Amino acid sequence: MTEAPQWLIDMPKTDLHRHLGGSIRLQTLLELADMYGVALPENVEQKIRAKNHQSKSLTSYLDAIKICESVFVKPDAFQRVAYEVCEDAAKENIRILELRFGPTNYMHDHMKLYEIVEATLDGLKKGGKDFNIHTGLIICGIRTDFEATRKAAEIAINYQPGVIGFDLAGKEAGHRPKQFQGILKPVLENFLPITIHAGEDDTVASIAEALIYLNAQRIGHGVTMLQSTKLLDYVNKMRVGVELCITSNIDTGSVAAIETHPARVFYQNDLRITINTDNPTISDTTITKEYLLLMEHLGFLQEDIYRLAKNGIKAAFLDSRETKQYLDEFDAITGNGRQ
Ligand SMILES: [Zn+2]
Repeated sequence: MTEAPQWLIDMPKTDLHRHLGGSIRLQTLLELADMYGVALPENVEQKIRAKNHQSKSLTSYLDAIKICESVFVKPDAFQRVAYEVCEDAAKENIRILELRFGPTNYMHDHMKLYEIVEATLDGLKKGGKDFNIHTGLIICGIRTDFEATRKAAEIAINYQPGVIGFDLAGKEAGHRPKQFQGILKPVLENFLPITIHAGEDDTVASIAEALIYLNAQRIGHGVTMLQSTKLLDYVNKMRVGVELCITSNIDTGSVAAIETHPARVFYQNDLRITINTDNPTISDTTITKEYLLLMEHLGFLQEDIYRLAKNGIKAAFLDSRETKQYLDEFDAITGNGRQ
């Protein structure tokens, strides 16, 4: 991969789809495992990097994330990793970071759900302040576990406004959004914005259900969206944010090769697509690398990249005053006219 040009380094960026566990630094993973006496598999780096996985599937990708999640044994680990993610993001000039995680994945007898959420919020708050970036936490329900999702929804509501959104994550195929309509009703009634992983490992019907039954304002991945022109038109008209994670889509087998990624077609259809990392440690990527991939493999030019970065600001769960502030800052730094 070529080096990032200066304008790309300087460009204010957003990451709206990044998971806490899959963002842990390798060094921190090793240190926490040592500190808490967690046994990691041999050749752990080899195992967690998706590029080494023999089969590209969501299952093997999620298994790698589980290894990372295994070292979050005490609240301090959440605080530390959330803080370090902010530090790493700031180095890339990320201005808005929306970090997400499924807190129920980490629960055990000696660590309560509220301790997990509070420690993560604390790390994000400190990191946001120290590195001058806007941060927010998205809580994920777990598709394969209704009870865990109900608990996650309850805690998400209780920790507003630090918690800025709700998501459904985990194995997608066979676990359709419609089944969660009742469980997520309190989330909607509390005006917590919703983004749903959909169309990553399932057909366009999964995306449709997320929009219709869960009132999703954003869709995570959405790569199968092209299967329905009607839905594509709706996503355009309603300015639904589409959180694309290019390398992750290759790593999970959602898309066979970068050259066939629908990002270009989505862009030509003027969808509000945004560029994100998903799990930078698993995918061995950064937000800058994701933009470079678009330029190298899908013909995106500087002006297109600017437009995508502004989409990130527009799709972020911000109020209108904050959106304007970040768009103005973007224009001042890039000299780019409002689009
Ligand atoms: Zn994700």
